[in-house]
Amino acid sequence: MMLSACDSGQTSFQFDEMTYSPSETVFKLFAPADAQCLVVVGDDTLQMKQMADTLWTATAKGDHKGQTYQFLVDGQASPGVFAKAVSVNGEKGVVVDLRDSDPEGWTNDKPVRRLPQDIVVYEMHHRDFSINQPLAQHPGKFLALTESWAIEHLKQLGINTIHILPSYDYGSVDETRLNEPQYNWGYDPVNYNVPEGGYSTDPYDPLCRIREFKQMVQALHQAGIAVILDVVYNHTYDIDHSNFQRTYPDYYYRGDSNGSGCGNETASEKPMMRQFMIESVKYWINEYHIDGFRFDLMGCHDIETMNAIRQAVDEIDPNIFIYGEGWSAGACALPNELLGMKANIPQMPRIAAFSDDMRDALRGPFSDDTVEGWLGRSAVSDCEADMNLLKESLKAGIAGMIAHPQVDYSKVNYSSAPYALEPTQMMAYVSCHDDMCLVDRLKASISGITEEELIRLDLLAQTAVFTSQGVPFMLSGEELLRTKQGVHNSFESPDSINRLDWQNKERYPQVFDYYKNLIALRKAHPAFHLGTADLVRLHLEFLTVENDFVVAYRLKDHAGSDEWQDIIVILNADKSPVTVDIPKGRYSVVCCDGKVDEQGLGEVTGSKVQVSPQSALIIHN
Ligand code: CA
Repeated sequence: MMLSACDSGQTSFQFDEMTYSPSETVFKLFAPADAQCLVVVGDDTLQMKQMADTLWTATAKGDHKGQTYQFLVDGQASPGVFAKAVSVNGEKGVVVDLRDSDPEGWTNDKPVRRLPQDIVVYEMHHRDFSINQPLAQHPGKFLALTESWAIEHLKQLGINTIHILPSYDYGSVDETRLNEPQYNWGYDPVNYNVPEGGYSTDPYDPLCRIREFKQMVQALHQAGIAVILDVVYNHTYDIDHSNFQRTYPDYYYRGDSNGSGCGNETASEKPMMRQFMIESVKYWINEYHIDGFRFDLMGCHDIETMNAIRQAVDEIDPNIFIYGEGWSAGACALPNELLGMKANIPQMPRIAAFSDDMRDALRGPFSDDTVEGWLGRSAVSDCEADMNLLKESLKAGIAGMIAHPQVDYSKVNYSSAPYALEPTQMMAYVSCHDDMCLVDRLKASISGITEEELIRLDLLAQTAVFTSQGVPFMLSGEELLRTKQGVHNSFESPDSINRLDWQNKERYPQVFDYYKNLIALRKAHPAFHLGTADLVRLHLEFLTVENDFVVAYRLKDHAGSDEWQDIIVILNADKSPVTVDIPKGRYSVVCCDGKVDEQGLGEVTGSKVQVSPQSALIIHN
C-alpha cells in the first residue's frame, strides 16, 4: 500500500471533497498516489491533479449547483466517502449549497445538552414509531417527529433524549420503491454523512432529506429533547461496492477480518479512517446540531480513536454524550486490549457502555431466550447460588457498575471488575432494538405467565433501570407494552412485527402511567442520578436481605442535595409478599404495587415493611 504524509501521524487533511461557490466548485479526494483519478461533474469529466501523494484535486469553473458528480478512481465510480448531498439511493454526489437546506429558524436552533447523569434515553426506529399511528401525517418519515402527537407523547412520557436508529444513508431500502413497504434497521451504511432518503418525503430531491432531518431536530429541540445519532463506522454494507473501497482500495478495512459479524470490519486505527470518524461526528454536530452518539459495536474500534473522538467533541461541547456497545460481533483483527471493549471503559473516560450485565441479570442471558433472569425465577425450582449471582449483578447495575464496597464483582455475570469509573459510563437497560423486547422475553422465558404477572414484572424491571445510578435507556414502545410477536432479530421484519401498537396506550393505561411517573420521579430527585462514583459510594447503601429474590437499598442523607432525607428502594421478584427490615422511621410511600406517585401513596412506620409480590416499593422520609 502506498503510504503518504497523511499516514505518518497528525495531518491537516480534511475530507472536504466538494466545496461549492457560485464561481467554481472544488473537488478533493483521498486516493492512492498511483491511481488514475477523474471527477465527472454533470456531463463534464475533469482530470484530477495530484497535490500531494494521496491528495487529488480538481476545480470546475462556473456555477454547478444542483449537478451530480462522481469520482472515478481507476475506473471505479463513487460519490466519494464524504458526500454531503446525494442522488436517489446515494449513487452520486450532488453539488449543493447547504444553506439552501436550512429550514426557517435553523440558525436559532439550540442544541439540547445535559449533564450525562440527567439524561433519559428513548431508542427509536422511525418506521416503528409512526407507521401505525393514525394521526401521523408523514408515517415512517423524519417529519413524523415534528408532529404534535409525537412530541406530546414523548413529553408526556418524560424522556429527554431520543436515540434514533441509523438515519444516515443506508443500503437495504430501495429509495426508488418507497410506495412498497420495505423495512430495515439500517445497519448497512452507504453514505455516512447524508440522511437516509427512505425517511424523506422525496429521495430524488437531494436537499429534501437534509432539510427534513433538520426540521426533525429543530422540533425535538424546541420540545427540550436531545437527539442522539446511532453511528455505524465499524462496517459497511459490503466491501466491493463501498465508497471506501472504490476510492482507496484496501485502505479502510482490516483485511478479511469480520469483527462486525456483517462481513467486514473497518480499521479505525489507520490515520485516515480515524480522521474520517472524527470529521464525520463533528459534521453531524455542526451541520445537524446532533447532541450525542451511540457507537455501534464500539468494541471494533480502537481505544485511541474513541478517545480522539471524545477530545474532538469536547472542543465543541463537553456535554455531547457518547456511548457504545462495548463488544464486537466476531473476533477483530486487533487484540481486545486495544479495543473499545466494555472492560476497557476505564481507559475511555466520559464514554459509556451498555451494561449487558444488568440487562441479562434482569431478563436472562443473550444466548438463550428461554432462560429466565432474576425476574422470572421460581423460588421452588431454582438453584439458590444462581439467584445470588443474579442479585449481585443487579446490585452492580444499580450502583452504575462502579467499585462499591457492597458489590462483589467476583459474582457479577460478565464483569469480574467494576468497568465504570463514574456511573455515567454505564447504560442501564433491560431491552433495546436487538433481541426480544421485554414483553416477548418475559413470555419466552416464563412458561404460563399471565398478563397480570407480565405487567408486574415489566414494571419491576424498569424500576431497576430507572432507579439505577447509570444512564437509563429504554426501547421505544415498552411504555405501550410492545410486542414483536416473539421475533428475536427483527432487523428486516415487516411492519406487522416492528410497529408500535398505539391502541395499547388506552388498553394498558396503568403501564404508561407507571413509566411516566417513574421517569418523573427520577428526574425530580437527584438522589437517583448522583453522577459521580464518590457520591454513589457515600450515599448508596444496600440493605441486608437474606432473600435473593429481593434487592433493597437506601439513598441516604439527602443524596445529591435531594429534598428527601433517605429514600429506600426495594425490588421484590418473589411471587410472595416479603417483609424487609429497614431503619426505623416514618416514611411516605411513592411507589407501591404497580403505582408510582411522587406526591405520596400513603405512609408506613416502624422498622419493617412489607413488599407486594413481584413489585417495587419506594419510600422516603
Ligand atoms: Ca439509502
